[in-house]
Amino acid sequence: MPAERPYSYVVPDGMMVQPGSIVQVPLGPRQVAGVVWDGETDAVDPKKLKAITHAFDCPPLPDAMRRFIDWVAEYTLSPPGLVARMVLRVPVAFDPEPFVDGLRLTDQRPERLTPARQKLLETATAGLEWTRPGLLHASGVSASVLDGLVKAGSFETVKLPPHPIVFPPDTSYGRADLSDTQREAADRLCEAVGEGGFSVSLLEGVTGSGKTEVYFEAVAKALEAGRQVLILLPEIALTQSFIDRFHARFGTEPAQWHSDVPPRNRERVWRQVAEGRVRVVAGARSALFLPFKDLGLIIVDEEHDPAYKQEDRTFYHARDMAVVRGHIGECAVILASATPSLETRVNARSGRYRHVPLTGRFQAAALPSLQLVDLRRHPPAKGRFISPVLHTAIEETIARGEQALLFLNRRGYAPLTLCRACGHRFQCRQCSSWLVDHRLRGVLQCHHCGHSERRPEACPSCGTLDHLVACGPGVERVAEEMLHAFPEARTILLSSDLPGGARRLRRELDAVAEGEADIVIGTQLVAKGHHFPLMTLVGAVDADLGLNNGDPRAAERTFQLLHQVTGRAGRSGLPSRGLIQTFAPEHAVMQAIAAGDPERFYERETAERERAGLPPFGRLAAIIVSADSRREAEEYGRLLRKAAPEDGDLEVLGPAEAPLGLVRGRHRFRLLIQGGRRAPIQSFVRAMVASAPRPRGSVQIQIDIDPQSF
Ligand code: ADP
Ligand code: ZN
Repeated sequence: MPAERPYSYVVPDGMMVQPGSIVQVPLGPRQVAGVVWDGETDAVDPKKLKAITHAFDCPPLPDAMRRFIDWVAEYTLSPPGLVARMVLRVPVAFDPEPFVDGLRLTDQRPERLTPARQKLLETATAGLEWTRPGLLHASGVSASVLDGLVKAGSFETVKLPPHPIVFPPDTSYGRADLSDTQREAADRLCEAVGEGGFSVSLLEGVTGSGKTEVYFEAVAKALEAGRQVLILLPEIALTQSFIDRFHARFGTEPAQWHSDVPPRNRERVWRQVAEGRVRVVAGARSALFLPFKDLGLIIVDEEHDPAYKQEDRTFYHARDMAVVRGHIGECAVILASATPSLETRVNARSGRYRHVPLTGRFQAAALPSLQLVDLRRHPPAKGRFISPVLHTAIEETIARGEQALLFLNRRGYAPLTLCRACGHRFQCRQCSSWLVDHRLRGVLQCHHCGHSERRPEACPSCGTLDHLVACGPGVERVAEEMLHAFPEARTILLSSDLPGGARRLRRELDAVAEGEADIVIGTQLVAKGHHFPLMTLVGAVDADLGLNNGDPRAAERTFQLLHQVTGRAGRSGLPSRGLIQTFAPEHAVMQAIAAGDPERFYERETAERERAGLPPFGRLAAIIVSADSRREAEEYGRLLRKAAPEDGDLEVLGPAEAPLGLVRGRHRFRLLIQGGRRAPIQSFVRAMVASAPRPRGSVQIQIDIDPQSF
């Protein structure tokens, strides 16, 4: 059970601790890591307290970090102990890193001097002390040559301080020649960074306008002021291209922080961030909880991306928390996007955030010309999903030696399998969702709980053989269609669930960028950030997907995704097109995309939200009640509702079955709390939870302040 409040301990004689120190303390029968929160205690009798076991030799958490933990806990209604745990997830990092073995040249020269030995000695004189791998790398000779020289006494072994996980960036290394508009935007960002205090800037520019190039200047500015920088990216594990660009600009890689980084590395990054030795971190949302010594700039790239929302344990939105972190730590925040979230746009338009627009693509590369394909008038052949119009466009594109991207945000072969004889549909037993046909792996799988089963030959309901049919397309099915339609073309399928994981995907994304594919079929992961120079056609196979799920954010999301995916085309200046297959060409989203006019769409959406009192014009919170039975979940939801305090400014809706009513065998009901912009929603929810009877049996609740779907 994570701590609601700090516990009190005695500091043993001779131990030096201060607020922020990381310590080991007894907690019941266990020893756990903790942070010293305060020097004073209100505890009754110090004799009854246990003592701190050990104080780690590690920089204390800076004041700003502790205030950030408190703030996040208070805002998200999570126990502070749970938030602190997000900061302290790397136990070994609290002890100093051991020194490493190094080599130093002596005056002793070997009797026999081969060319390789000569080369090694020459290289070694250029530095004072070397790590073994460093010296071998720099000289290019084999390890046996070095061993021979060590034996001959030409080197002595020394202990070196642990070497940096990454070398410090060089701000003048690969400075880009910015265009006039880019320069102007960069200057404004640098100005914000130069002020040294808190500010939020929205860097808004179409895909390919050079946002990365521009915010790199702000990074350089913060580094020159001696401060640290955090760059948040939504799909960091896949963005080798980002790391390469950073390297080209700063002559070194940034430290990386995401779930694919091996534990040993994470520990070193954590410690070196705390010591201030790591200057730039590129990471996923969890990097916000790294203990920066002196953070001067946070960049949230693709700030509108749904991946920034964590919906697990502590529910938080990394973009919003980045702004808070910037406020507490007095540092500049830059939100970058081609399609900012409505919240951010409203803040920028109202002057709360600085608006830094970047107009046009770099070197005036034309944006793709976009065209809607009305599937009612241009239907694909039966059992196919690519319309004749799109087919022709693909044919022309690959004939020119260019690349086509077919985008469909659906993994697997088909979203639904049914029996033609009896109508039976394959559904997950534990979740309210259909089983998705993953034909490459030969299974039917639930995308919510991961349950998978072999695809049978006979219907489990009526027993009829060979009457199962796949309904609707997934990326595997589109790939199959392309293999038939263009057998000569090199077709490649990119999806996160194929064997080989992130490493293979990174390789394949590189291959596509190198031109080693003609037709690329992919889910949303190909929409983000990649630069494919030969890509000149993007086809959205089913643009309506996600538009009709009843979520008020659906239109905004669809617009952002379609804009981003079509933005993959024509980034190196070749004329390019985007074809959008839809059954609803008259829909506002489709019209805005085709007209390349986001402004009207955004204005309408904004007006709609304002009318409905939805964020950012009002506040929302959700309480999700889950239980082993439907009845228990719903009943507890009613109890919660009854426990709501009287408050004219806040209203409780529900309990209603949650959008996913059943997940992993747990039934879910949801209460929505809606109020005005300044409504005290946290204290209201806290009061509800506190005055309702304690959840019993299998009942559990989760609190989501600012839910993303509502
Ligand atoms: P965005 O992030 O806005 O989509 P990028 O920063 O990825 O745009 O830039 C798009 C492409 O244009 C990249 O390949 C980038 O290297 C190139 N580019 C942008 N600005 C410049 C510049 N000033 N000099 C050289 N190349 C640039
Ligand atoms: Zn399931």
